[in-house]
Order: sequence, then C-alpha cells, then structure tokens
Amino acid sequence: METDLGRFGRARNRYFHMNENIFRVKVFDKNQRLNVLCLGAHPDDIEIGCGGTILRLKEEMPEAQFCWVVFSGNEIRRKEAYGSATLFLDKVKAKSIDVQCFRESYFPFEGDKIKDYFEKLAKEFSPDIVFTHYKADAHQDHRVISDLTWNTFRHHFILEYEVPKYDGDLETPNLYVLLEDAHVKRKIDNLLEGFPTQRQKPWFDEETFRSILRIRGVESRSPSKYAEAFHCRKIVL
Ligand SMILES: [Zn+2]
Repeated sequence: METDLGRFGRARNRYFHMNENIFRVKVFDKNQRLNVLCLGAHPDDIEIGCGGTILRLKEEMPEAQFCWVVFSGNEIRRKEAYGSATLFLDKVKAKSIDVQCFRESYFPFEGDKIKDYFEKLAKEFSPDIVFTHYKADAHQDHRVISDLTWNTFRHHFILEYEVPKYDGDLETPNLYVLLEDAHVKRKIDNLLEGFPTQRQKPWFDEETFRSILRIRGVESRSPSKYAEAFHCRKIVL
C-alpha cells in the first residue's frame, strides 16, 4: 500500500519510510491477514471518510478481514448502511457488518452503553488498523466514537478520517492515501447508490465528495490528482 505520510515523507510499497535508508517500519504485508476495523457513528460516515482507502486496501490486500461497525440509524438508514457496506466490501472474503441503534445526536449521554459495546468488540476482533472519527470533529457523536476508539484500542494503529460538514471543522491532516481514478469513481458511485435518503441534502453530491479528494490530492501531489487524508496521532516505531 502506497501511502504519503505528509511531513514525515513518502512511503512506498510495504513500508513507511522516515528518512530514506535510515529508518524503515514495516506496516503491511500484501499477504497477511490484515484485520481492518472501520468505525462510524452514523450511516455513511465510514464511506465518506475512508471509502476510497477501503477500496484500495481490499484490492491490494486480498486476504484482509474487515469488521465494519455503524453505531446508529433508524430502520431505513440501517438498511442503507448494510447495503452500502456490502457494496464497499464487495468480493471481500472475510467481513462482518454490524449496524447498531444507539440514539443519534445523543452519544455523549449513551456513553456507558457505547463503551460496553467497544469492550465486547475488542474481545471479538483484534485490529491491525482502525479507521475512526477525528478527535476534534465538531459532531458530538463523532467525538464519542473517536474517544472510545483510543480508550479501548490503546496499542493500535489508528487513523482518524475526515467528514466535511456545515461546522467547517476540517483541519490539516498528516497522512495521505493516494487513490486511482477508479477508486474515486467507485467511492462516489457507491455513496450515491447506497444512500438514496441522503441525496436530498444539499451537500450530499458528487461535487462535495470529489472536491475534498481533489484538495487532498493537491496536498499529497497525487498522480491521479486525488487522495484521502487522515490524522495519525501516534506511530510506534
Ligand atoms: Zn456522522
């Protein structure tokens, strides 16, 4: 997996390079059964934040196992969440998709129950990489999921994804995943197909999704022009 670590320099193949020839850290091996945990407070968060990276990961690491958890959704949106996860994880051999029904917008007041869920999850699945919300996300539900991710998975490689919103809370990321045109198109097509109830929202369209990928592509000098970006708070070497 080729990843750009922003200010830390560019990574190629299976390694993150920090000062070429001085420091190498093996992160992914193509044939390892990488355990990937994807966490999202609401239906569509995971797809918006890291859908392109998931598409790339499953291509480059065919043995990867995915555990996909959405923490809220009414009956209709839960169906959409299952359907969309199935689209994004198409052809993945080992996957589990769980859509919970914690009360949307009230996560800070449901924290004990959500924490219990995290503890159960940690006993059942041992992730090599975790995708979760950004710690400084303006949405209270997103922050609860981010905090409990760190609180539960204390020695893990965690990447926090971005979700554009009215609050204007995007910050400067420090890890970029370059995407091919095909990943960009598939991500956007899947989002539009997977969440018909969201299409009435003025921001839920191709232009929004493509724009943020384009900006992150500029920052990472992506050959395809597109990238997804993450906040990586901690790497242990
Ligand atoms: Zn959300």
